[in-house]
Amino acid sequence: MRVGIMGGTFDPIHYGHLVTAEAARVELELDEVVFVPTGDPPHKAYAVTEAKHRYLMTVLATLTNPYFSVSRVDMDRDGKTYTIDTLRDLRTVYGPEVELFFITGADAILEILTWKNPEELLRTCVFVAASRPGHSLDRLQEVLGELYTNNKDRIRLLQVPALAISSTDVRERVASGRPIRYLLPETVAYYIAKAGLYREHNSGSVGHNTTEDPVTD
Ligand code: ATP
Ligand code: MG
Repeated sequence: MRVGIMGGTFDPIHYGHLVTAEAARVELELDEVVFVPTGDPPHKAYAVTEAKHRYLMTVLATLTNPYFSVSRVDMDRDGKTYTIDTLRDLRTVYGPEVELFFITGADAILEILTWKNPEELLRTCVFVAASRPGHSLDRLQEVLGELYTNNKDRIRLLQVPALAISSTDVRERVASGRPIRYLLPETVAYYIAKAGLYREHNSGSVGHNTTEDPVTD
């Protein structure tokens, strides 16, 4: 069994995440891809949307793909999310026989593998570095140096259809009233509107009435 892990803040999830996960599934012949939204950050200062909203949007976005699922392991663990904890928890869920593939964009892989204990991470799973507009994969070998040469078989490069979409841009668009249509699934756009997420003074509560239709307006 081969399982892909797509970790992220997913604030909100968008087509860049979905295209990347699907390309990894097909290219690497994965049996499934698990999306793992990060937990609530311990300090309120960092304005990440509550995990319950990010989790629900991820469930809505992955609903129609039978190979996709969503895991709560990071949400249900206290404190900041570290990739090593995600991998350990999913290893416990899936057992020792399963091959794990941690899927990241070209930006995130550098963040994670220049962080502490990259050797341990690379022992636990294969890292998949997906192309992402604005973030070159060319520098990967150079920046990682020996870590890359010693783990060539544990770091896989993956070309995915380029989508210059980011959650930051989606949040800014909602805050300034610009459209988000075609950047993410319609169900997620409706959820954002209903929960009042990403507005300048958002209520964050589901059931908030809006007069505008986020998809057709
Ligand atoms: P933010 O702007 O808030 O950082 P994001 O769009 O980068 O959001 P994350 O939740 O931070 O989304 O990313 C989760 C994972 O998905 C990371 O590994 C990231 O590199 C990857 N990813 C996000 N967007 C894309 C994209 N458009 N193409 C390829 N990979 C992507
Ligand atoms: Mg990001």
